[in-house]
Amino acid sequence: MARMIRIAVLQFSHETVTFLGNDTTIADFTYAGSPAAGEALLASDPRGYMGGFVQVAREFDGVELVGIESPLWPVTGSGSGWVTGEAFEHFTAKMIAGLRAGGTWDGVYLCVHGAMAVRGVERPEAELARRVRKVVGREAFIAGTFDPHGNEDAEFLAAADFAFCVKYFPHYDSHLQGQRAARMLVRAIRGDYAPKSATVKVPILTPTVQQWTGASPWMDLVQRALVWEAREPDLFVNFYFGFPWSDVPDAGMCFQVIANGDAALAKRVADDMARAAWRRRAELVKAATIHRIGDGVRMAAAAMADGKMPVVLADHSDRSGAATWLLREIQAQDLPGVVVVSVADAAAVEALRNARPGDAFDREVGGKLDVSAGAPVRVTGTVLGGDWSANDVKQHWVAIGFGSGCALVLTPYLTQVLYPETVRQYGLDPAAFRGFAIKSRVHFRRGFDDSGFAPTILLVEPDEPFLGTIRLEALPYRHVELERFYPYGEVAFP
Ligand SMILES: [Zn+2]
Repeated sequence: MARMIRIAVLQFSHETVTFLGNDTTIADFTYAGSPAAGEALLASDPRGYMGGFVQVAREFDGVELVGIESPLWPVTGSGSGWVTGEAFEHFTAKMIAGLRAGGTWDGVYLCVHGAMAVRGVERPEAELARRVRKVVGREAFIAGTFDPHGNEDAEFLAAADFAFCVKYFPHYDSHLQGQRAARMLVRAIRGDYAPKSATVKVPILTPTVQQWTGASPWMDLVQRALVWEAREPDLFVNFYFGFPWSDVPDAGMCFQVIANGDAALAKRVADDMARAAWRRRAELVKAATIHRIGDGVRMAAAAMADGKMPVVLADHSDRSGAATWLLREIQAQDLPGVVVVSVADAAAVEALRNARPGDAFDREVGGKLDVSAGAPVRVTGTVLGGDWSANDVKQHWVAIGFGSGCALVLTPYLTQVLYPETVRQYGLDPAAFRGFAIKSRVHFRRGFDDSGFAPTILLVEPDEPFLGTIRLEALPYRHVELERFYPYGEVAFP
């Protein structure tokens, strides 16, 4: 008869773009629904890591899950900079106090991301795991789930027992990794699994737009990891692509392998994965073709003339959501039938609160947030609709008709559109457009490419090497030594 197992569930997730000017603060993590505790935390993301974790943990008899009060994703999504030290300490202290007050724990699940960057705290996920370990002791097991954009090294697994990282970009398998975390925590607690891990960093740094796992060589490395997992039962292979928009000391590619009681096997597989990645390094850093925005808009017009529609123009480089470069060029070339979704402009959305469909619109929008957002662009047209009813201002929006059958959606924050159908949320019919001008690097491939929707996909970025550029050498790194990474220096590996 299995004894009762008690597992604490915590979350602290952010993907921090340290080059953005707006710090991520306590206030950004605090809104209706966040922080969340108890069932509210456990039910906070049914299709994601948390949902998978809770689902499988509850398939076991005698497992008690306790949601410890934790912040959900900040209101800024991934459109904000350094998490303040104050925010990290505030929420971590509350979580640790909740753990202490909760009694004795057999296991802890940490729903983290891996690319959180905190002022004054290196490797915040590992720091969280260390603090949790101090409370729960060496007997308990700690498992984390991670995004492949995590900047990780051996530190997290020095304090925790398990890490499970999503394999695909777009991130189709977060639910699956949550399930694995639950299953392996319970098995380890019951003495059925003895986690032994190996970690190997690979000195390759790539812009995220290159990391689509729907194409080689990225898909080949994912496949290699899957083959290892298939041929060695109870082996888990984590492939962190790394997140270059976080200027942190553990940036870059990393492999982690976890095996049942077999440290040598874990090391052998981690070395194999690392060497396989290094062999393909020249292809890894140029897997995607990026066009300058003017060229991309011209190519979109040509594709439309050829009937290769719908066309996607993805400004992959916009990290604030406010960038106007693509909107400006669509206006300049009078590209017809395009929905631009979205340009972030919180002030404009608020100012238009009383607008009604049919109202004339003439206003400068977007830009300003930082130099990479560009200058505001004047748009003249007609208000198509808007919604300011939600308590959560993130959900407010206004849609404007302009140009030759074009529409522009303004939102308060960076909005990544992943599916054509999403424009229905803004009162628009996806079938009415020949083109979609969006802000996304890879996630949009979920609905626009892997789905077969758009025959023409054009990735664009501004001429200037701004934040979000594929030209990482243009970024003002202070903690990352770029010349220690391929392709930015003479790097020897292994
Ligand atoms: Zn990611």
